[in-house]
Amino acid sequence: MRKKLISVVVPIYNEEDGVREFLDEQLLPVMKNLKYNLELVLVDDGSNDKTLEKIKKCKIIKAVDSNVISFSRNFGKEVALTAGLKEARGDAVVMIDADGQHPAEMISEMVQKWEEGAEVVTAVRTANTTKHKIGSSMYYGVMKMFGGGKAVPGAMDFRLLDRVVVDEFNKFTEHNRMTRGLIDWLGFRQVYIKVKTKDRMHGKPTYNFKKLMQLAGDSMASASRTPLVVFGYIGAFIMVTSFIFGLFILIQQYIMGDPMGLDWSGAVAMSVFIAFLVGLVLVSQAMTALYISQIHMEAKGRPLFVVDAKKSFKRKVQK
Ligand code: UDP
Ligand code: MG
Repeated sequence: MRKKLISVVVPIYNEEDGVREFLDEQLLPVMKNLKYNLELVLVDDGSNDKTLEKIKKCKIIKAVDSNVISFSRNFGKEVALTAGLKEARGDAVVMIDADGQHPAEMISEMVQKWEEGAEVVTAVRTANTTKHKIGSSMYYGVMKMFGGGKAVPGAMDFRLLDRVVVDEFNKFTEHNRMTRGLIDWLGFRQVYIKVKTKDRMHGKPTYNFKKLMQLAGDSMASASRTPLVVFGYIGAFIMVTSFIFGLFILIQQYIMGDPMGLDWSGAVAMSVFIAFLVGLVLVSQAMTALYISQIHMEAKGRPLFVVDAKKSFKRKVQK
């Protein structure tokens, strides 16, 4: 019988300080211990430091069949993972971060769960900083509120996917994507394992609180949408202030009988009410426009990423 193949996909962006340590000291020993055929898929997400040179010098490249995909620029982790999953050939595919936060030693447990029948094995973070906790609980709150499907708090991108799940994942065509969310949406037999995350070995995380909110709120910062969003904010401001002002008039003048002696005419109350409606219209208009701009983005049908063929390479281990 053919030995099963396990692929490990790693998105890497500007990790020159830690990438060797992660690949050779954390990942390699774990992979060597797996009694399977192995494949490593590294996605260099347009790093502009020495990351790629460092990768080429790693021992793991010579020890495991490797496929290094180098993007022409930074496309973001979600897209890097997508490219890695497209490229991976494994019967099971493991996704893991290169910054040392995902404990590589858990991979063997993931593989075991997979052998027991799980089709998606998700690592769930146990201990972490308060900042992370607030950030992710807000994120999951927003996801729940807007019907983003069932989401487990603390679930990470550190996952093992069965071939059937990867094949389904590869069918997604949307550009604005969130890997975790899409995998959860797919369903299949999901198993969660608890892991203790570690601190980032080097450098700063590029995914900060703001970026997380952007993902949840659907990247509002992209240049073409900024005007829309500004109108939405103006509308929201008008709505809120006129609502408060209207409430003030109602209570002061009509309920308490004008103790301040302002004696405002009905026209004032009416203008405030109209201002409120204008705010409401602006907000709903901005919401609609956001949906349309989404359609616009997807309708362009651009490629999701661009590979720099000159920098990418494959290397098979001689047996
Ligand atoms: N990463 C990437 N592209 C990016 C940002 C990050 O491929 O634009 C990689 C990064 O090198 C790391 C992983 O994605 O391997 C997680 O990144 P980070 O630690 O910045 O995010 P967080 O841990 O906060 O999710
Ligand atoms: Mg990290």
